[in-house]
Amino acid sequence: MESYLFHIIVFALIASTVWDIFLNWLNLRHTAIVPPAPLTSIYEAQGYAKSVRYLRADTNLSFLSNTFNLALLLGLLFSGAFVSLDTYLHSYIQHPVLHALSFFLIIGTLNELIFLPFCYYKTFHIEQAFGFNTMSLMQFFQNKIKAYVLMMLIAFLIGYILLYIVLMIGPNFWYYSWAIIMGFIFFTQWAYLRFILPLFNRLSPLKDGSLRQAIEDYVTKLDFDVAEILVVNGSAQSTKANAFFMGLGKRKRIVLYDTLLETLKEQEIVAVVAHELGHYKKRHVEWGLFKAFLRTGLMQFLLATAIFSPALSTSLGSPAMSLPLNILGFFFLYQLLSLLLDGIEYAIMRRQELEADAYAAQTYCPKKLASSLKKLAVHNLTNLSPHPLFVAFNHNHPPLLKRLEALSKLK
Ligand SMILES: [Zn+2]
Repeated sequence: MESYLFHIIVFALIASTVWDIFLNWLNLRHTAIVPPAPLTSIYEAQGYAKSVRYLRADTNLSFLSNTFNLALLLGLLFSGAFVSLDTYLHSYIQHPVLHALSFFLIIGTLNELIFLPFCYYKTFHIEQAFGFNTMSLMQFFQNKIKAYVLMMLIAFLIGYILLYIVLMIGPNFWYYSWAIIMGFIFFTQWAYLRFILPLFNRLSPLKDGSLRQAIEDYVTKLDFDVAEILVVNGSAQSTKANAFFMGLGKRKRIVLYDTLLETLKEQEIVAVVAHELGHYKKRHVEWGLFKAFLRTGLMQFLLATAIFSPALSTSLGSPAMSLPLNILGFFFLYQLLSLLLDGIEYAIMRRQELEADAYAAQTYCPKKLASSLKKLAVHNLTNLSPHPLFVAFNHNHPPLLKRLEALSKLK
Protein backbone atom coordinates (compact mmCIF):
# COMPACT_ATOMS: atom_id res chain seq x y z
CA MET A 1 0.00 0.00 0.00
CA GLU A 2 2.72 2.44 1.04
CA SER A 3 4.95 2.06 -1.99
CA TYR A 4 1.84 2.12 -4.15
CA LEU A 5 0.93 5.54 -2.70
CA PHE A 6 4.51 6.76 -3.15
CA HIS A 7 4.30 5.90 -6.84
CA ILE A 8 1.01 7.75 -7.19
CA ILE A 9 2.58 10.86 -5.63
CA VAL A 10 5.56 10.65 -7.98
CA PHE A 11 3.16 10.15 -10.89
CA ALA A 12 1.06 13.19 -9.86
CA LEU A 13 4.15 15.42 -9.72
CA ILE A 14 5.53 14.22 -13.05
CA ALA A 15 2.14 14.29 -14.79
CA SER A 16 1.27 17.84 -13.76
CA THR A 17 4.70 19.14 -14.81
CA VAL A 18 4.72 17.26 -18.12
CA TRP A 19 1.19 18.49 -18.84
CA ASP A 20 2.20 22.08 -18.20
CA ILE A 21 5.32 21.79 -20.35
CA PHE A 22 3.27 20.15 -23.11
CA LEU A 23 0.71 22.98 -23.10
CA ASN A 24 3.42 25.62 -23.21
CA TRP A 25 5.13 23.81 -26.07
CA LEU A 26 1.85 23.60 -28.00
CA ASN A 27 1.31 27.30 -27.37
CA LEU A 28 4.76 28.27 -28.65
CA ARG A 29 4.32 26.17 -31.79
CA HIS A 30 0.96 27.79 -32.40
CA THR A 31 2.33 31.33 -32.79
CA ALA A 32 2.12 32.50 -36.37
CA ILE A 33 4.84 34.48 -38.17
CA VAL A 34 2.29 37.22 -38.83
CA PRO A 35 -0.61 38.28 -36.60
CA PRO A 36 -3.98 36.53 -37.18
CA ALA A 37 -5.72 38.20 -40.16
CA PRO A 38 -8.23 40.51 -38.41
CA LEU A 39 -5.49 41.82 -36.12
CA THR A 40 -2.78 42.63 -38.71
CA SER A 41 -3.33 46.35 -38.37
CA ILE A 42 -3.10 46.66 -34.58
CA TYR A 43 0.67 46.39 -34.32
CA GLU A 44 3.10 48.90 -35.75
CA ALA A 45 6.05 47.44 -37.66
CA GLN A 46 8.22 45.20 -35.44
CA GLY A 47 5.64 45.22 -32.64
CA TYR A 48 4.21 41.80 -33.39
CA ALA A 49 7.63 40.16 -33.75
CA LYS A 50 8.49 41.64 -30.34
CA SER A 51 5.38 40.07 -28.76
CA VAL A 52 6.40 36.67 -30.16
CA ARG A 53 9.94 37.08 -28.80
CA TYR A 54 8.46 38.01 -25.41
CA LEU A 55 6.29 34.90 -25.38
CA ARG A 56 9.29 32.75 -26.32
CA ALA A 57 11.53 34.20 -23.61
CA ASP A 58 8.83 33.84 -20.98
CA THR A 59 7.92 30.28 -21.98
CA ASN A 60 11.56 29.19 -22.05
CA LEU A 61 11.99 30.43 -18.50
CA SER A 62 8.88 28.53 -17.40
CA PHE A 63 10.24 25.34 -19.06
CA LEU A 64 13.40 25.76 -17.04
CA SER A 65 11.74 26.55 -13.71
CA ASN A 66 9.16 23.76 -14.09
CA THR A 67 11.80 21.17 -14.88
CA PHE A 68 13.99 22.40 -12.05
CA ASN A 69 11.05 22.31 -9.63
CA LEU A 70 10.18 18.74 -10.61
CA ALA A 71 13.79 17.53 -10.34
CA LEU A 72 14.09 19.18 -6.94
CA LEU A 73 10.87 17.66 -5.58
CA LEU A 74 11.72 14.18 -6.89
CA GLY A 75 15.21 14.49 -5.42
CA LEU A 76 13.77 15.47 -2.04
CA LEU A 77 11.19 12.67 -2.16
CA PHE A 78 13.58 9.91 -3.17
CA SER A 79 16.30 10.99 -0.75
CA GLY A 80 13.81 11.10 2.14
CA ALA A 81 14.71 14.74 2.88
CA PHE A 82 11.16 15.66 3.92
CA VAL A 83 11.12 12.82 6.45
CA SER A 84 14.55 13.82 7.77
CA LEU A 85 13.41 17.40 8.28
CA ASP A 86 10.27 16.17 10.04
CA THR A 87 12.25 13.87 12.37
CA TYR A 88 14.86 16.55 13.03
CA LEU A 89 12.22 19.12 14.00
CA HIS A 90 10.47 16.56 16.14
CA SER A 91 13.53 16.17 18.34
CA TYR A 92 13.44 19.91 19.15
CA ILE A 93 9.76 20.85 19.04
CA GLN A 94 7.30 18.61 20.86
CA HIS A 95 4.28 20.90 20.54
CA PRO A 96 2.39 19.28 17.59
CA VAL A 97 1.05 22.55 16.16
CA LEU A 98 4.40 24.35 16.33
CA HIS A 99 6.15 21.29 14.95
CA ALA A 100 3.91 21.20 11.86
CA LEU A 101 4.07 24.99 11.45
CA SER A 102 7.85 25.13 11.60
CA PHE A 103 8.02 22.31 9.02
CA PHE A 104 5.97 24.36 6.53
CA LEU A 105 7.61 27.69 7.33
CA ILE A 106 11.04 26.17 6.64
CA ILE A 107 9.86 24.58 3.38
CA GLY A 108 8.14 27.84 2.36
CA THR A 109 11.27 29.88 3.10
CA LEU A 110 13.58 27.49 1.23
CA ASN A 111 11.17 27.51 -1.70
CA GLU A 112 11.28 31.33 -1.82
CA LEU A 113 15.08 31.35 -1.71
CA ILE A 114 15.54 28.61 -4.30
CA PHE A 115 13.20 30.28 -6.79
CA LEU A 116 14.49 33.81 -6.16
CA PRO A 117 17.04 33.59 -9.02
CA PHE A 118 14.22 32.68 -11.44
CA CYS A 119 12.21 35.64 -10.27
CA TYR A 120 15.27 37.88 -10.54
CA TYR A 121 15.94 36.67 -14.07
CA LYS A 122 12.31 37.19 -15.10
CA THR A 123 12.30 40.78 -13.77
CA PHE A 124 15.76 42.00 -14.72
CA HIS A 125 16.36 40.05 -17.92
CA ILE A 126 13.01 39.36 -19.54
CA GLU A 127 10.74 42.15 -18.26
CA GLN A 128 13.66 44.59 -18.43
CA ALA A 129 14.60 43.65 -22.00
CA PHE A 130 11.03 44.16 -23.19
CA GLY A 131 10.69 47.49 -21.46
CA PHE A 132 8.26 46.48 -18.70
CA ASN A 133 10.35 46.52 -15.54
CA THR A 134 10.65 49.83 -13.71
CA MET A 135 12.07 48.51 -10.40
CA SER A 136 15.61 48.99 -9.20
CA LEU A 137 17.38 46.04 -7.62
CA MET A 138 16.81 47.64 -4.24
CA GLN A 139 13.04 47.99 -4.79
CA PHE A 140 12.88 44.41 -6.06
CA PHE A 141 14.40 43.08 -2.84
CA GLN A 142 12.37 45.41 -0.65
CA ASN A 143 9.16 44.14 -2.24
CA LYS A 144 10.31 40.55 -1.94
CA ILE A 145 11.07 40.97 1.76
CA LYS A 146 7.75 42.71 2.44
CA ALA A 147 5.83 39.99 0.59
CA TYR A 148 7.77 37.30 2.45
CA VAL A 149 7.14 38.79 5.90
CA LEU A 150 3.46 39.27 5.06
CA MET A 151 3.15 35.70 3.79
CA MET A 152 4.89 34.29 6.88
CA LEU A 153 2.70 36.30 9.25
CA ILE A 154 -0.49 35.15 7.55
CA ALA A 155 0.75 31.56 7.23
CA PHE A 156 1.70 31.50 10.89
CA LEU A 157 -1.56 32.96 12.11
CA ILE A 158 -3.98 31.03 9.89
CA GLY A 159 -1.81 27.91 9.98
CA TYR A 160 -1.76 27.97 13.77
CA ILE A 161 -5.54 28.23 14.05
CA LEU A 162 -6.19 25.56 11.41
CA LEU A 163 -3.69 23.07 12.82
CA TYR A 164 -4.98 23.64 16.31
CA ILE A 165 -8.51 22.86 15.14
CA VAL A 166 -7.38 19.74 13.25
CA LEU A 167 -5.77 18.37 16.40
CA MET A 168 -8.55 19.41 18.73
CA ILE A 169 -11.55 18.28 16.69
CA GLY A 170 -10.20 15.33 14.74
CA PRO A 171 -11.56 14.11 11.36
CA ASN A 172 -14.58 16.44 11.48
CA PHE A 173 -12.34 19.51 11.57
CA TRP A 174 -13.11 20.34 7.96
CA TYR A 175 -16.44 22.07 8.66
CA TYR A 176 -14.61 24.51 10.92
CA SER A 177 -11.53 24.97 8.73
CA TRP A 178 -13.85 25.57 5.78
CA ALA A 179 -15.59 28.37 7.69
CA ILE A 180 -12.30 29.87 8.89
CA ILE A 181 -10.75 29.93 5.41
CA MET A 182 -13.90 31.54 3.99
CA GLY A 183 -13.78 34.12 6.78
CA PHE A 184 -10.18 34.84 5.80
CA ILE A 185 -11.14 35.23 2.11
CA PHE A 186 -13.82 37.76 3.08
CA PHE A 187 -11.32 39.52 5.29
CA THR A 188 -8.81 39.90 2.43
CA GLN A 189 -11.58 41.40 0.26
CA TRP A 190 -11.85 44.06 2.90
CA ALA A 191 -8.16 44.37 3.76
CA TYR A 192 -6.58 44.25 0.29
CA LEU A 193 -6.98 47.92 -0.64
CA ARG A 194 -6.66 49.14 2.93
CA PHE A 195 -3.55 47.32 4.09
CA ILE A 196 -2.03 44.93 1.58
CA LEU A 197 -1.74 46.90 -1.67
CA PRO A 198 -0.52 50.08 0.17
CA LEU A 199 2.49 48.06 1.39
CA PHE A 200 3.72 47.95 -2.20
CA ASN A 201 2.03 50.83 -3.99
CA ARG A 202 0.59 54.26 -3.50
CA LEU A 203 -3.18 54.60 -3.88
CA SER A 204 -4.73 57.99 -4.45
CA PRO A 205 -8.17 59.24 -5.52
CA LEU A 206 -8.49 59.99 -9.22
CA LYS A 207 -7.90 63.73 -9.67
CA ASP A 208 -10.80 66.02 -10.52
CA GLY A 209 -10.98 66.68 -14.20
CA SER A 210 -12.68 65.57 -17.35
CA LEU A 211 -11.84 61.86 -16.91
CA ARG A 212 -13.26 61.76 -13.40
CA GLN A 213 -16.31 63.63 -14.64
CA ALA A 214 -16.78 61.21 -17.56
CA ILE A 215 -16.56 58.17 -15.23
CA GLU A 216 -18.94 59.74 -12.72
CA ASP A 217 -21.42 60.63 -15.46
CA TYR A 218 -21.33 57.05 -16.70
CA VAL A 219 -21.81 55.37 -13.31
CA THR A 220 -24.54 57.82 -12.23
CA LYS A 221 -26.42 57.17 -15.47
CA LEU A 222 -26.52 53.50 -14.41
CA ASP A 223 -27.59 54.34 -10.90
CA PHE A 224 -24.44 52.80 -9.54
CA ASP A 225 -22.96 53.85 -6.25
CA VAL A 226 -19.16 53.86 -6.30
CA ALA A 227 -17.46 54.77 -3.04
CA GLU A 228 -14.13 55.71 -4.61
CA ILE A 229 -12.28 55.84 -7.90
CA LEU A 230 -8.63 55.22 -7.10
CA VAL A 231 -5.39 55.35 -9.04
CA VAL A 232 -2.59 52.97 -8.10
CA ASN A 233 1.00 53.71 -9.12
CA GLY A 234 1.57 50.37 -10.84
CA SER A 235 4.29 52.16 -12.82
CA ALA A 236 6.51 51.75 -9.74
CA GLN A 237 6.94 48.08 -10.68
CA SER A 238 5.95 47.65 -14.29
CA THR A 239 4.71 49.57 -17.30
CA LYS A 240 1.98 46.95 -17.86
CA ALA A 241 -1.51 48.42 -17.64
CA ASN A 242 -4.51 47.09 -15.77
CA ALA A 243 -7.70 47.97 -13.89
CA PHE A 244 -9.82 46.16 -11.33
CA PHE A 245 -12.83 46.41 -9.14
CA MET A 246 -13.09 45.65 -5.44
CA GLY A 247 -15.66 45.50 -2.73
CA LEU A 248 -19.10 44.33 -1.84
CA GLY A 249 -22.11 46.21 -0.56
CA LYS A 250 -21.72 49.94 -0.15
CA ARG A 251 -17.94 50.27 -0.32
CA LYS A 252 -17.32 49.58 -3.99
CA ARG A 253 -14.07 50.83 -5.43
CA ILE A 254 -12.73 51.10 -8.94
CA VAL A 255 -8.94 50.93 -9.16
CA LEU A 256 -7.14 52.15 -12.27
CA TYR A 257 -3.41 51.72 -12.86
CA ASP A 258 -1.59 54.95 -13.66
CA THR A 259 -0.13 53.08 -16.63
CA LEU A 260 -3.67 52.53 -17.94
CA LEU A 261 -4.34 56.25 -17.76
CA GLU A 262 -1.19 56.91 -19.79
CA THR A 263 -1.95 54.26 -22.41
CA LEU A 264 -5.62 54.93 -23.17
CA LYS A 265 -7.71 57.92 -24.18
CA GLU A 266 -10.48 59.17 -21.94
CA GLN A 267 -13.40 57.34 -23.56
CA GLU A 268 -11.39 54.13 -23.75
CA ILE A 269 -10.75 54.35 -20.00
CA VAL A 270 -14.49 54.81 -19.37
CA ALA A 271 -15.07 51.71 -21.53
CA VAL A 272 -12.65 49.76 -19.28
CA VAL A 273 -14.54 51.02 -16.21
CA ALA A 274 -17.78 49.93 -17.91
CA HIS A 275 -16.31 46.45 -18.35
CA GLU A 276 -15.32 46.31 -14.68
CA LEU A 277 -18.81 47.48 -13.74
CA GLY A 278 -20.20 44.69 -15.92
CA HIS A 279 -18.44 42.18 -13.65
CA TYR A 280 -20.16 43.72 -10.71
CA LYS A 281 -23.62 44.04 -12.28
CA LYS A 282 -23.53 40.46 -13.54
CA ARG A 283 -22.72 39.32 -10.00
CA HIS A 284 -19.29 37.89 -10.89
CA VAL A 285 -17.90 39.01 -7.53
CA GLU A 286 -20.46 36.92 -5.67
CA TRP A 287 -19.88 34.07 -8.07
CA GLY A 288 -16.15 34.23 -7.37
CA LEU A 289 -16.80 33.93 -3.65
CA PHE A 290 -19.23 31.06 -4.18
CA LYS A 291 -16.64 29.26 -6.29
CA ALA A 292 -14.06 29.77 -3.52
CA PHE A 293 -16.64 28.40 -1.08
CA LEU A 294 -17.11 25.19 -3.11
CA ARG A 295 -13.42 24.65 -3.79
CA THR A 296 -12.41 25.26 -0.20
CA GLY A 297 -15.09 22.86 1.03
CA LEU A 298 -14.01 20.15 -1.38
CA MET A 299 -10.35 20.59 -0.52
CA GLN A 300 -10.95 20.55 3.23
CA PHE A 301 -13.19 17.49 2.94
CA LEU A 302 -10.56 15.59 0.94
CA LEU A 303 -7.82 16.75 3.31
CA ALA A 304 -9.89 15.38 6.22
CA THR A 305 -9.90 11.92 4.60
CA ALA A 306 -6.10 11.95 4.24
CA ILE A 307 -4.72 13.92 7.14
CA PHE A 308 -4.85 11.14 9.75
CA SER A 309 -3.91 8.29 7.42
CA PRO A 310 -0.68 6.59 8.50
CA ALA A 311 -0.27 5.24 4.93
CA LEU A 312 0.54 8.68 3.51
CA SER A 313 3.39 9.33 5.97
CA THR A 314 4.83 5.84 5.70
CA SER A 315 4.68 6.02 1.90
CA LEU A 316 7.03 9.01 2.13
CA GLY A 317 9.40 6.90 4.26
CA SER A 318 8.42 7.96 7.76
CA PRO A 319 8.34 5.23 10.45
CA ALA A 320 5.14 6.71 11.94
CA MET A 321 2.21 8.97 11.13
CA SER A 322 3.21 12.63 10.92
CA LEU A 323 0.79 15.48 10.43
CA PRO A 324 3.04 17.71 8.27
CA LEU A 325 4.09 14.81 6.04
CA ASN A 326 0.45 13.85 5.53
CA ILE A 327 -0.47 17.41 4.59
CA LEU A 328 2.50 17.61 2.22
CA GLY A 329 1.63 14.26 0.58
CA PHE A 330 -1.98 15.35 0.25
CA PHE A 331 -1.04 18.55 -1.59
CA PHE A 332 1.21 16.65 -3.99
CA LEU A 333 -1.78 14.44 -4.86
CA TYR A 334 -4.24 17.32 -4.90
CA GLN A 335 -2.25 19.04 -7.72
CA LEU A 336 -3.82 16.81 -10.35
CA LEU A 337 -7.38 17.53 -9.24
CA SER A 338 -6.45 21.20 -8.97
CA LEU A 339 -5.47 21.28 -12.67
CA LEU A 340 -8.89 19.97 -13.60
CA LEU A 341 -10.72 22.40 -11.29
CA ASP A 342 -8.67 25.30 -12.69
CA GLY A 343 -9.78 24.27 -16.18
CA ILE A 344 -13.45 24.40 -15.18
CA GLU A 345 -13.01 27.67 -13.32
CA TYR A 346 -11.16 29.37 -16.20
CA ALA A 347 -13.90 28.32 -18.64
CA ILE A 348 -16.50 30.04 -16.47
CA MET A 349 -14.30 33.12 -16.02
CA ARG A 350 -13.77 33.47 -19.76
CA ARG A 351 -17.54 33.45 -20.25
CA GLN A 352 -17.86 36.12 -17.59
CA GLU A 353 -15.31 38.30 -19.40
CA LEU A 354 -17.50 38.18 -22.51
CA GLU A 355 -20.53 39.05 -20.38
CA ALA A 356 -18.70 42.05 -18.91
CA ASP A 357 -17.62 43.11 -22.42
CA ALA A 358 -21.24 42.87 -23.58
CA TYR A 359 -22.38 44.94 -20.62
CA ALA A 360 -19.83 47.64 -21.44
CA ALA A 361 -20.85 47.56 -25.09
CA GLN A 362 -24.54 47.92 -24.27
CA THR A 363 -24.20 50.60 -21.61
CA TYR A 364 -21.29 52.53 -23.07
CA CYS A 365 -19.66 51.95 -26.44
CA PRO A 366 -18.52 48.77 -28.20
CA LYS A 367 -16.06 50.69 -30.45
CA LYS A 368 -14.27 52.35 -27.55
CA LEU A 369 -14.03 49.07 -25.65
CA ALA A 370 -12.64 47.32 -28.74
CA SER A 371 -10.02 50.00 -29.25
CA SER A 372 -9.01 49.88 -25.57
CA LEU A 373 -8.66 46.08 -25.71
CA LYS A 374 -6.47 46.34 -28.81
CA LYS A 375 -4.27 49.07 -27.33
CA LEU A 376 -3.83 47.16 -24.07
CA ALA A 377 -2.95 43.95 -25.92
CA VAL A 378 -0.26 45.79 -27.89
CA HIS A 379 0.98 47.65 -24.82
CA ASN A 380 1.25 44.46 -22.72
CA LEU A 381 2.68 42.41 -25.64
CA THR A 382 -0.20 39.92 -25.33
CA ASN A 383 0.04 36.70 -27.33
CA LEU A 384 -2.49 37.14 -30.15
CA SER A 385 -2.78 33.51 -31.17
CA PRO A 386 -2.62 31.26 -28.10
CA HIS A 387 -3.32 27.55 -28.59
CA PRO A 388 -6.95 26.68 -27.61
CA LEU A 389 -5.82 23.95 -25.20
CA PHE A 390 -3.36 26.34 -23.55
CA VAL A 391 -6.16 28.90 -23.24
CA ALA A 392 -8.45 26.25 -21.70
CA PHE A 393 -6.06 25.56 -18.82
CA ASN A 394 -4.24 28.86 -18.37
CA HIS A 395 -6.30 31.86 -19.40
CA ASN A 396 -9.00 33.52 -17.36
CA HIS A 397 -9.56 35.97 -20.26
CA PRO A 398 -10.55 34.89 -23.78
CA PRO A 399 -8.00 35.64 -26.54
CA LEU A 400 -8.28 39.17 -27.99
CA LEU A 401 -9.65 37.90 -31.29
CA LYS A 402 -12.56 36.10 -29.54
CA ARG A 403 -13.44 39.22 -27.54
CA LEU A 404 -13.35 41.45 -30.62
CA GLU A 405 -15.49 38.99 -32.60
CA ALA A 406 -18.05 38.86 -29.79
CA LEU A 407 -18.07 42.67 -29.62
CA SER A 408 -18.52 43.05 -33.37
CA LYS A 409 -21.62 40.86 -33.20
CA LEU A 410 -23.13 43.27 -30.68
CA LYS A 411 -22.75 46.33 -32.85
ZN1 LIG B 1 -12.79 41.50 -16.86
